[in-house]
Amino acid sequence: MQIPSAADTICALATPSGAGALAVIRLSGKNAFTIGNALFRTKKGKQKNFETVKPYTLHFGNLMEGIEIIDEVLVSVFKGPHSYTGEDTLEFSCHGSTFIQQRVLQQLQREGARMAEPGEYTLRAFLNGKLDLSQAEAVADLIAAEHASAHRSALQQLRGGYSTTIRNLRQQLIDFASLLELELDFAEEDVEFANRDHLKILVQTLLKEVHHLRQSFATGNALKQGIPVVIAGKPNVGKSTLLNALLNEEKAIVSEIAGTTRDVIEDHMVIEGLRFRFMDTAGIRITEDVIEKIGVERTFSNAGKASVVLYLIDPAKSDAQSIREELVELTDKTGNDDYDVITVINKVDQHPAIEKNIQFNEFPNPVFISAKEQMHLEELKTLLLVTAKKQIRSGDTEIVTNARHAEALTNAEVSLSKVLEGMNHQLSTDLLALELKSALIYLGEITGEIYTDDLLGNIFSKFCIGK
Ligand code: GDP
Repeated sequence: MQIPSAADTICALATPSGAGALAVIRLSGKNAFTIGNALFRTKKGKQKNFETVKPYTLHFGNLMEGIEIIDEVLVSVFKGPHSYTGEDTLEFSCHGSTFIQQRVLQQLQREGARMAEPGEYTLRAFLNGKLDLSQAEAVADLIAAEHASAHRSALQQLRGGYSTTIRNLRQQLIDFASLLELELDFAEEDVEFANRDHLKILVQTLLKEVHHLRQSFATGNALKQGIPVVIAGKPNVGKSTLLNALLNEEKAIVSEIAGTTRDVIEDHMVIEGLRFRFMDTAGIRITEDVIEKIGVERTFSNAGKASVVLYLIDPAKSDAQSIREELVELTDKTGNDDYDVITVINKVDQHPAIEKNIQFNEFPNPVFISAKEQMHLEELKTLLLVTAKKQIRSGDTEIVTNARHAEALTNAEVSLSKVLEGMNHQLSTDLLALELKSALIYLGEITGEIYTDDLLGNIFSKFCIGK
């Protein structure tokens, strides 16, 4: 993939396309000021020299097409390198009709600017050292954030997040790697510049850190995409009724078809800024009639991917012994127990005395509700929130939310483990150096200290135009 030329001056609409009260058009690059000078006139018809005006000021006037006024505009002036892109930048705030937007963009192009590619402003910010790669990606996440927890983690990453940790550790590794290279240069003399004990300690520290970060992705992903929740239980216990009751009364529901390979319907619900994702509820909904069996099997396989399982029980149909068995079956069939179970005793409207029944206390997080009559749903939601929050390493500022970073960390962990193993088996210096190098590459890819055009193309093409 070809990276667009940084020599061009680029323009784009920075606000959403379509009509609005205002539209902001960005112009960035080495000719931004001369292009601005050519098109902008003060109210008195005078030209401005944006080269010499005080930067970070606003200028009111007209944007011209020849002698014709296109619009009254406000121009913000940012002088490189102290701008978002690191280049000279003008932002034109004009009236938000699509006609005006188009005409302004046409004039900017007539004066020599070209339309920006998706994410090109942020790409330039990265190439000019204003942001590292993980921060650039956080910009996209910040724009896409639809709820508080995604917003919080994107902002955290934008502020530097774990980049600094990775950069520091990587730097220490680089120092060691260069000592190893030095040893290779003096191979005949059999000297050891890189103290193996120190290297071992460093690799162990790094491994621990990388492992910790990689593991945080489960939390990070949950914060970004929503905490996966599955409603499980025997047919007719009220799973669909509960799901509907939970979602219908929530105002922040987003129902969408996720763009995954198969058509998974996901329902989202936000409680106190934390997003919950009810997984593959279609599978759960069809637990009746003919396809009951498939539905139940699917519920189990989904529970394996859940952080929280709401295990529903109809007390008229289950006694303590059968519930015990059901819960064991759940763990057996899902193949793991990495999730928390909330035991939801449903249909309490039919059994008003059941809440006093202590036989349910032995089960994890028991809560009594009536999905149909919408009784005690708040209690259930609070319990869901508390359970999820316990799983999220709250207070942990270094949480990986980006799948690309998680993959790089996984690869780095493998390489670092090989280095450690190699040292334990007196592996030759050149092979050690080789493994160390791949760990350095993987870590460098996260922050963008190492990148390829393809990697950049991949990341920035997902941005919107104008960012
Ligand atoms: P699913 O198979 O687990 O999804 O169960 P459904 O949600 O389809 O519910 C099965 C039956 O139980 C339906 O007739 C519901 O109306 C009924 N039901 C669900 N929740 C309650 C409840 O809290 N109280 C009562 N009385 N009936 C309920």
